[in-house]
Amino acid sequence: MMKIDDVLSLIRPNIQSLTPYSSARSEFTQQGEFIFLDANENAFGAPVNAIPQLHRYPSTLHLDVKQVISQLKKVPIEQIFLGNGSDESIDILIRMFCKPAVDEIIILPPTYGMYEVMAQIHEVNVVSVPLNDEFQPQVDSILDCATENTRMIFICSPNNPTGNLIDKTAILHLLKNFHGIVVVDEAYIDYAQTMSFSELVVEYPNLVVLQTFSKAWGMAGLRTGLTFAHPEIIQIMNKVKMPYNVSTPSIELLKKGLCNMEKFRRSIEITLSERKKLVERLSKLSIVEHIYPSHANFILVKVIDADRIYQHLIEHGIVVRNRSKLEKLTNCLRITVGTPDENERLTLALKAFNKSSKA
Ligand SMILES: *Cc1c(COP(=O)(O)O)cnc(C)c1O
Repeated sequence: MMKIDDVLSLIRPNIQSLTPYSSARSEFTQQGEFIFLDANENAFGAPVNAIPQLHRYPSTLHLDVKQVISQLKKVPIEQIFLGNGSDESIDILIRMFCKPAVDEIIILPPTYGMYEVMAQIHEVNVVSVPLNDEFQPQVDSILDCATENTRMIFICSPNNPTGNLIDKTAILHLLKNFHGIVVVDEAYIDYAQTMSFSELVVEYPNLVVLQTFSKAWGMAGLRTGLTFAHPEIIQIMNKVKMPYNVSTPSIELLKKGLCNMEKFRRSIEITLSERKKLVERLSKLSIVEHIYPSHANFILVKVIDADRIYQHLIEHGIVVRNRSKLEKLTNCLRITVGTPDENERLTLALKAFNKSSKA
């Protein structure tokens, strides 16, 4: 078990000693009627009126929307980082903990591609320990592969592109026995009726949890994502981030969106019932060999010839994700659950291929 001081000692020395950029907005925080001549903004206003105060720089810590998020997620504000998508958090975390050309991360493929790409951008070595045939972590191999330079393990649950939840006991075992950061990416957690790891971030200071407003919340265009971690980690993330990382329109629209719980809940409900229907329909087709159980808003489908079916669907105006080149995913397509009408059209197009392949 790591203590917070052990975790902080893993942060790169240049980050530990960093004096962050001090912006006009963070230096002067008094409320009241002031004339703001401190940030070289254009006092005559923006050329569009859609969003108030667009001519001003946004807040740096977004405390008003974090207040709403804190209540919604039942996590204290000090344990929340709001970023430009959760992709920003992946970037910041790798920069905080990994020395280029020295440190490494462990990923568990097949999984989300950004962990590896971000690591490569920062010249951080990537060690792959594939998931087993049930798409669960091989905990002992992971711990065996970890060296004194292994700083982070990225775990995605529910996993993209396989759709399954990762065993809680496996994650807890890694949290207790790995000397480094365990990132649990919960981008699809709202579709899975299960607990979030966010409630454990104080108990396990080496735990970092990622969530996003891009999936079940339906706001991918805003680019807003969440990190839950020990307050001391959150503080350093805030030091490393760009001062104005989330734009005023994103903050304003996020606040509005978060008030519409009804829409959020209904879209999850429909997605889950449409996913069930889709699985029932597709499993009847002989071109479909297997549909993996999903806790997310997509299904992973093993077919007889992924490349040809992918092309066939394109010809029918339908784009899915061909994942068949990934390890353990030969002939697998990842299909996002769409509207009832979209799912109907997908089913018809696959039926047509099924028929022609039999003829
Ligand atoms: C979609 C997705 C994200 C979301 O990234 P954002 O930058 O927040 O849009 C993160 N992780 C996984 C595994 C995803 O599939």
